[in-house]
Amino acid sequence: MTPDAESLERAAALIRGGGLVAFPTETVYGLGANAFDAGAVARIFTAKARPRQSPLIVHVDSIEMARTLVLEWPDAADRLARRYWPGPLTLVLPKRPSIPDIVTAGLSTVGLRVPSHPLALALIRAAGVPIAAPSANPFTGLSPTTAEHVRQSLGDAVDLVLDGGPAIVGIESTVLSLAGAEPLLLRPGVIPLPEIESLIGPVRIAGAADGPHASPGMHPQHYRPRTPLALLAAGDPTPPGRGEWLRLGREMPAEPGAYAAMLYAALHRLDAQELDWIAVERPPAKPEWAGVLDRLTRAASHSAPSSRRESSAPPHRPPPPS
Ligand code: AMP
Ligand code: MG
Repeated sequence: MTPDAESLERAAALIRGGGLVAFPTETVYGLGANAFDAGAVARIFTAKARPRQSPLIVHVDSIEMARTLVLEWPDAADRLARRYWPGPLTLVLPKRPSIPDIVTAGLSTVGLRVPSHPLALALIRAAGVPIAAPSANPFTGLSPTTAEHVRQSLGDAVDLVLDGGPAIVGIESTVLSLAGAEPLLLRPGVIPLPEIESLIGPVRIAGAADGPHASPGMHPQHYRPRTPLALLAAGDPTPPGRGEWLRLGREMPAEPGAYAAMLYAALHRLDAQELDWIAVERPPAKPEWAGVLDRLTRAASHSAPSSRRESSAPPHRPPPPS
């Protein structure tokens, strides 16, 4: 499962040379490029067919590396980084000019995170540069939690896929902005908000007023399987046609951490079965379920009844050259 030193060195050389490497993190698999190389980062947007308005998270190996990329390192950042890094928390802070504008979609801030997966850390260290990496999947699709998911959806668009086994957290990082007057939660993850607030005080939850691109993870149709997904109560009637239920304490764990770790793998598996529907039992509205509930709500937002057919084309069609 674990790539040898030679594959790691090859991956690091690819990153340094402007290539794209998919690599495991504890949240989901990332599609990485040298964050200082605007041309390499442009290839990420092309491979994912991702709009240029969606900023990328920059992965670093330490607080020290993070501090070289930002204009300020507030006390709140220090407390949070010391508590949660390496781990599934992204901090948004004012960026230095060394980070090209394409990485941050022209924003004056950058999202930073130290991943805890040993291979992700080893790759950043071997490459010697921060690595910009969104999830390694076509835009708006399901995030990959295994190397196989990446190969299936991005295939040839990636120079190398490092296999580090299934992602153990399973959903994307919590994203918190410390760039404004008050801390702002841009995307919930597996870290419960009350825990964060106990360290830094009150945090506002970003809403529609903060703009659709305050955080691209806020796009209403992110994290979506091709199969229509309904978020239902356990006792609700089963939809017509062929489908599968994901119920709490039945097909899925009743504990939020274990649930998150399985969620995307379950959706990838059901999505491959050409079902008419996937019915998911709505988890409780409690802070520790917020990340899972957020992804399920977005996964359930299909715009039009025809979307199943439109999007059942091969998941990755290379965009026209730009
Ligand atoms: P993904 O598409 O899964 O890689 O998610 C990228 C996430 O990074 C988004 O959901 C944003 O919340 C976050 N992000 C990265 N950089 C920034 C930034 N400068 N400002 C706000 N959000 C950011
Ligand atoms: Mg993504």
